[in-house]
Amino acid sequence: MVNLVFLGPPGAGKGTYAKELVKKLNIPHISTGDMFRETAASGTELGNKIKEIMERGDLVPDELVNQMVKERLKRDDCSSGFILDGYPRTVEQAKALDEMLKELGRELTWAIFFDVPEEVVVRRLTNRRICPKCGRIYNLLTMPPKEDNLCDVCKVPLVQREDDREEVVRRRYRVYMEKTFPVVEYYGKTGKLQKLDGTVGLERVIEEVLKLVK
Ligand code: ADP
Ligand code: ZN
Repeated sequence: MVNLVFLGPPGAGKGTYAKELVKKLNIPHISTGDMFRETAASGTELGNKIKEIMERGDLVPDELVNQMVKERLKRDDCSSGFILDGYPRTVEQAKALDEMLKELGRELTWAIFFDVPEEVVVRRLTNRRICPKCGRIYNLLTMPPKEDNLCDVCKVPLVQREDDREEVVRRRYRVYMEKTFPVVEYYGKTGKLQKLDGTVGLERVIEEVLKLVK
């Protein structure tokens, strides 16, 4: 069983690494960002509220996030482990996760921190484009689609996430430094932290993670 938490600034590549690793480790990828994007698209009152928060680059309230993750971790597919991507994002959430794991009789394997400097983050995110149909992620600089602005698979025009505009990216980075970097320090104290360089490219990052969990 492998229970992982992925930490790092927005744009560190957590989602991309997680998607690669689920294939190799056969454990679910739990992205709170994806879950909230789904809720935001649902058109419900809660959805609209969350949409507003996300478009500002702010954080969804801890209680709501904790409840959602708690439900998710109870599902059968997590019995072999999980990759938590984008959670915990505050020390409050980290403590809540400790409680959840205790209740489930589980232990965190590692909290992996993907270290990436702010300027790299801004460059990556403002160049990120997404296929609205299949969710594939492209980067205009490092992973461009084969045809101009069209998904390689679906051939539909790629879109930019509202929160990937530069001013929102800068704000997300500030929120990250203020609220989430303390989570890195939190895991540092528990001896569960592993720091990896998030700028060395997908393949090498995956190799390093696999070394840690095997
Ligand atoms: P990023 O690319 O910034 O890592 P995500 O896709 O993980 O973005 O999350 C997008 C947005 O969803 C965040 O900016 C935040 O508003 C909300 N969100 C996701 N996870 C959490 C969380 N654990 N706590 C609070 N808000 C969250
Ligand atoms: Zn597509």
